[in-house]
Amino acid sequence: MRFLITGGAGFIGSHLSEFLISKGHYVTILDDLSTGRESNIVHLKSGKRFNAVFDKVENSKITDNLVSETDYIIHLAAAVGVKLIVEEPVRTIHTNIRGTEVILEAALKYKLPIFIASTSEVYGKLDKFPFTEDDDCVYGTTTKARWSYAVSKAIDEYLGLAYYKNNNLKVIISRFFNTVGPRQIGRYGMVLPRFIKAALNNEELQVYGDGTQRRCFGFVTDVVKSIYRLINSDEAYGEIINIGNNEEISILDLARKVVSICQSRSKIKIVPYNEIYGHEFEDMKRRVPSIAKLEDLTDYRFKTSIDEIIKITAAYIQKEEI
Ligand code: NAD
Repeated sequence: MRFLITGGAGFIGSHLSEFLISKGHYVTILDDLSTGRESNIVHLKSGKRFNAVFDKVENSKITDNLVSETDYIIHLAAAVGVKLIVEEPVRTIHTNIRGTEVILEAALKYKLPIFIASTSEVYGKLDKFPFTEDDDCVYGTTTKARWSYAVSKAIDEYLGLAYYKNNNLKVIISRFFNTVGPRQIGRYGMVLPRFIKAALNNEELQVYGDGTQRRCFGFVTDVVKSIYRLINSDEAYGEIINIGNNEEISILDLARKVVSICQSRSKIKIVPYNEIYGHEFEDMKRRVPSIAKLEDLTDYRFKTSIDEIIKITAAYIQKEEI
């Protein structure tokens, strides 16, 4: 089968490209390299089953042309990372909404199935755990820029569901929870690569907030395998499905684990949110997915523990920096 992956030079997209090629498929990626990197896919470029186009998904001519030559669309391109979102809300809203409109219009024109990446952020500050797919979404005021990411992805979900209901387009929407592993970069506020890099350099690990906020981290390979099983499950179409690990860890404990596994001399420093993101920042204490629907549809369980994830990611970062 021929796959088109928007955002394919990014962290998740490059792993998914590799996986699909290993299953015998053909992959074309469309990426503007805004947060993705050519180095993520350089090893795939020599293969006959891989093709890369560097452009914006909002460029409807290019997107239409690529969609016309594919069998399945995986839409991952988006403005991501809390730091980027707070600093560049216009870019976030435009990329996430216009990009999804363009790809859905093309999918409809050629009647192709499409998988759309959404995010756990869509739940907003819902205070009920775990998050199940039909729970309410609870947002803060529009003057707080961080909600623009969640709301823009929520609009993507509405659009996807509308195309499914009104046009019989085969659409799957998945809400990814924190996904981590090699190739993720810390520059845009991703916590694990930022901690590991600091630990390997024996530099201070900065824990934002008070460190008691808890998160669940899923390994990218487990995420990619879940995506593949979902797109092969007829019952997943027209559905919203959480993808993630449901084991929680506090950010302070994560920092401690990273220091210990990397055998680092780093100190851990607590840094209030307002010093990093400004006074208007709001964060959630917990974010736990219900994975019952994912397990029902895929019969897949996340296998990689946080200790293994830290080891694998640290080995990658260390090798990359040499
Ligand atoms: P990433 O930044 O590595 O990947 C996004 C890719 O999209 C990048 O390669 C970037 O260059 C590309 N891109 C951005 N704007 C584009 C545009 N206008 N046209 C073409 N390409 C564009 O991030 P990721 O973690 O791999 O995220 C992939 C998807 O998963 C995103 O939709 C994101 O919202 C979603 N997601 C990721 C996580 C996570 O923890 N990694 C969590 C929730 C949701």
